[in-house]
Amino acid sequence: MENERILLASPHMSDEGYEQEYVKEAFDTNWVAPLGANVNNFEKELAEYVGIDHAAALTSGTAAIHLALKAAGVGKGDIVICQSLTFSATVNPIIYQGAKPVFVDSDYETWNMDPEQLKIALEKYPETKAVIVVHLYGLSANLDEIVKICKEYQVTLIEDAAESLGTTYKGQYTGTFGEYGIYSFNGNKIITTSGGGMAVSNNPERVEKIRFWSTQSREQARHYQHNEIGYNYRMSNIVAGIGRGQLKVLSDRIKKKQYIHDFYKNELSEISSITFMPENKWNKPNFWLSVILLSDVDTNMLMDELDKANIEARPVWKPMHLQPIFEGYDYVGSNVAETLFNTGICLPSDTKMTDEDLYRVVKTIKRVLHHE
Ligand SMILES: *Cc1c(COP(=O)(O)O)cnc(C)c1O
Repeated sequence: MENERILLASPHMSDEGYEQEYVKEAFDTNWVAPLGANVNNFEKELAEYVGIDHAAALTSGTAAIHLALKAAGVGKGDIVICQSLTFSATVNPIIYQGAKPVFVDSDYETWNMDPEQLKIALEKYPETKAVIVVHLYGLSANLDEIVKICKEYQVTLIEDAAESLGTTYKGQYTGTFGEYGIYSFNGNKIITTSGGGMAVSNNPERVEKIRFWSTQSREQARHYQHNEIGYNYRMSNIVAGIGRGQLKVLSDRIKKKQYIHDFYKNELSEISSITFMPENKWNKPNFWLSVILLSDVDTNMLMDELDKANIEARPVWKPMHLQPIFEGYDYVGSNVAETLFNTGICLPSDTKMTDEDLYRVVKTIKRVLHHE
């Protein structure tokens, strides 16, 4: 439609109706609960997809980060080193655990955690318990270096792969490199269950423990016996049904996201004030969002103009060390994350976009940047 709003990313159910079939199955068998065949199978199918042994389906990616931190033994007063350029959901669970985040800068090569700054942070805080690396916008971090450094300093690596389901680094899926990985199925992610998350690991005991905590820490007993604090974080069987259907179209979604990115690149790279997100030969991104950097252009002006044309665009995440709520915590790095925030714009990357929609975005950008 001519002037319909073009969104950054929105839910995209399969044409075949896979999701509704699984949800119907749950209704027909009355497994309308935070357990059932869809939950078990969604875990199995996702684990198979990314090539990991175990997965726990949870209510959100945030819950998955929380229980991964707990599984890593992070508790009161512990230090957790965390990428600064990310969404606040990466950091909040560190605070839930009573631990202290130390923020680390990104590098331009990956936009994710700078291994050199990570090393500096670990030298400064040798008592660090865990590191959370993020794979923003479907780009992978420099995993060889980060895994090596975490081993050297004997800290647990947690990968926040909320935005990078389906992204590979040297042929292996992101989320499977650290001791723990987490995925999100929120409404704007590459596949969605309306809301949900997954914690994955190759360690069966730890994943079993995550399931145990997520279901109120009920001990094996006829009566309600509790030796530990519990959480109500288990994914519902209805939600898991949507997830199973969405997993069947994940590869199609990645293909379309790549098409969108290529389209923008073809149309916009001739504009000298625009550069695209980094490409590295060892990284096959899922292109969750197509992101550009602008030089000598006010990003807010461009976003305002896009908004007037009924096109949604967003800045790159505002770094955590610049957020008022995290003001008191240390930051190791220079100004890379801040520069990406100040100069970056996420372009609409909705997999339901038509070529006509894509042209509308491109034409608006060219008009505003006087490049018609
Ligand atoms: C979406 C997101 C999360 C949180 O996932 P939810 O399922 O919304 O709780 C965490 N980290 C990053 C980087 C995200 O983009």
